[in-house]
Amino acid sequence: MKILVLGSGAREHAIITSLLSEDAEHEIVAAPGNAGIARQVRTIELDPNDPAAVAEYAVENGVELVVVGPEAPLIAGVADPLRERGVAVFGPSKAAAQLEGSKTFAKRVMEAAGVPTGRAELAGTIAEVEKTIDEFGAPYVIKADGLAAGKGVLVSSDRAAAVAHATYWLEHGPVLIEEFLDGPEVSLFLFSDGHDVLPLTPAQDFKRLLDGDHGPNTGGMGAYSPLPWLPDAFVDEVIDTIALPTVRQLEHEGTPFIGLLYCGLVLTSRGVRVIEFNARFGDPETQVVLARLVTPLSQLLFASATGGLAGLPRPEFALDVAITVVVASEGYPEKSLTGRQITGIEAAEAVPEVTVLHAATEIATLPDSVEAGTWDSVGLVATGGRVLSVVALGSDFAEARSRVYAAVDRIELEGSQHRTDIAAGVAD
Ligand code: AMP
Repeated sequence: MKILVLGSGAREHAIITSLLSEDAEHEIVAAPGNAGIARQVRTIELDPNDPAAVAEYAVENGVELVVVGPEAPLIAGVADPLRERGVAVFGPSKAAAQLEGSKTFAKRVMEAAGVPTGRAELAGTIAEVEKTIDEFGAPYVIKADGLAAGKGVLVSSDRAAAVAHATYWLEHGPVLIEEFLDGPEVSLFLFSDGHDVLPLTPAQDFKRLLDGDHGPNTGGMGAYSPLPWLPDAFVDEVIDTIALPTVRQLEHEGTPFIGLLYCGLVLTSRGVRVIEFNARFGDPETQVVLARLVTPLSQLLFASATGGLAGLPRPEFALDVAITVVVASEGYPEKSLTGRQITGIEAAEAVPEVTVLHAATEIATLPDSVEAGTWDSVGLVATGGRVLSVVALGSDFAEARSRVYAAVDRIELEGSQHRTDIAAGVAD
């Protein structure tokens, strides 16, 4: 199949690595990709956020499936002209992507579908904010309505900080005050063809920068899968009470959701609650989920894009434990220091069952030599905050953890940061 993958992170590198591992031979093109992706497939200069340009490229080049990695192109409407022109696309329409793009849209859909989530109120003035947070009580949860690059949500017991956060975001529109949901968080991804869904396997990510869940929120610093502590019925419960009702509600409203339904969930003492929906694969959970996927990914993506999930069995996953640790630049997430050289990738990949996925990387010195030589010799540099996602498989948590950290320790990037407690203390 000729497949175009949009995006440039470790998530897209994981998707492409999974597609390349299949028996079928695919012709894969990535836009824009990164240095790691460029070594595996052709990369092109095409702006994923320009729907008309993407559709033009796909039609002219006979692309059979477009896979949209990040949320921004979906919210910009990249899927719409592709569908109009008959190209299969894994990713929801602009209208259905509002499930991620607008927290008030998501809350309305959940209410209409009877999906369990936290109580929430929209506040348009600081007086309304203060009244609502006092009614809900601490810890306070304040959310900006639209996409805010991970900076829109504040969870804090400090009332003054909550009011300050709300004051800042009120300049951009109303803010959502939400009930605090207490319990472990789980991410469950589901393929959706607009009517039926098929689940992937649960994963947990680590959003805070520092060990022990301290420090600021980030895009994600690590993840692991499976979650041996989850009840057996968890996935079925999420399908029956959350995913299917949501997909059927959107279908009923005439905005079918085709693509990846990312359920961000909390296991509270009163049951599973939705914390958020996303409209695409999560990063870094994708890196561990796809590392365990046995079923060919292209089949699932294509069946979702073309309305064919009903005939397929549930995807299968290896029993291995997968852990990923993100290596980030100095200064991330506030202000990342970039342009620094990265070495030790081959040494890291010499650890058994380790793959180093690239995110913000670029070949600095020898632009034509990406095919040749080692990463150390081509002058690989960091170009952003989250630079690499190191993934290890193991037969149990102890083995996967020792492998992933042995690999991370071999990577050198001046000033880099990573968490040392990903999947620590998880019992097999
Ligand atoms: P969101 O952007 O909605 O995913 O929020 C980012 C993070 O803030 C989540 O992953 C949670 O860790 C936390 N969070 C968001 N909403 C709540 C809530 N209602 N209760 C507790 N924690 C929350």
